[in-house]
Amino acid sequence: MSFKQTLIALSVALTASVAMAGDLPNVRILATGGTIAGSAASATATTGYEAGKIAIQTLIDAVPQINDVADVSGEQIVKISSNNMDTATLLKLAKRINELLAQKDVDGIVITHGTDTLEETAYFLNLVVKSDKPVVLVGAMRPATAMSADGPMNLLNAVRVAVNKDSVGKGVLVAMNDEINGARDVTKTNTTNVATFKAPELGKLGYIAGGKVMYYKESTRRHTKNSEFDVSKLTSLPRVDILYSHVDDDGVLAKAAVAAGAKGIVHAGTGNGSIHQNAEKELVAAQKKGIVIVRSARVGNGPTVPSVARYTEQKFLDGDTLSPQKARLLLQLALTKTTDLKEIQRIFDEY
Ligand code: ASP
Repeated sequence: MSFKQTLIALSVALTASVAMAGDLPNVRILATGGTIAGSAASATATTGYEAGKIAIQTLIDAVPQINDVADVSGEQIVKISSNNMDTATLLKLAKRINELLAQKDVDGIVITHGTDTLEETAYFLNLVVKSDKPVVLVGAMRPATAMSADGPMNLLNAVRVAVNKDSVGKGVLVAMNDEINGARDVTKTNTTNVATFKAPELGKLGYIAGGKVMYYKESTRRHTKNSEFDVSKLTSLPRVDILYSHVDDDGVLAKAAVAAGAKGIVHAGTGNGSIHQNAEKELVAAQKKGIVIVRSARVGNGPTVPSVARYTEQKFLDGDTLSPQKARLLLQLALTKTTDLKEIQRIFDEY
């Protein structure tokens, strides 16, 4: 082959590969840290490691198979263990996602995240992302350095979910351990097992099996494009504290929340949002000061609905099936719009 022929062959091959790359959907991977980016001292260590150590490009490079599914590029947002997640990072993430999804050349987003608060970030984004395009959160239970690490397959599957046309309009998704869950209902159910993310009663949306993405249902609640919340101008969120009910609850933490300047309190009650009588007195006092009280439950399953008439008369709102930590995020966003109790209850009934 002459030099000219070689050049022509090379340029044909290059054009073909560019055309192929151009045919693949564009997925941006936003990295926040977590165990998926965790590094341990040995391959057998599945605890006692440092989360969020490994940079996003290294994680992507470890799964070259992703390049057959999408054109991916990574962006490091933060490098934290997600138990340290904060409002500033949630707002930064939401704003960046809205910016990216407004671009024609971005088809979907994958977020690598620690599993501890993954469900909170997912639900927050479900309420504030202004697009139908897929947004998929993924994490891992075993650090990247572990034997049988779950991160690489989870990451590949998350990208598969992000490029799948059936993921459009489903709200923010969580893809872990071959299952797809919706942001509203998913929760971490096991401290260490890889099969930790479940929506115990309301159920998963689908599977990723044999590389195929399969859906069976979707949430009926408002989300993303259909949500009324807008964080584009926000730099903080109103303070909302969660109080966990227990035997002997004397209301001292309710008083502390008021003293700390809470604008809202989510009470994780016993049973159907029941409140110890000593704590109840403090919550009534807080409500009279204008603090919004939402009854939720520490039970983990079932809706919190009106129970004793007194709670309704005391203007305590009902948290539906939201976990206390998700009710907190919804109340924070609701309080950015209104302090009207009827309106806030309407929000809890719709989201
Ligand atoms: N502590 C870790 C985190 O949430 C746990 C994990 O990612 O699994 O970042």
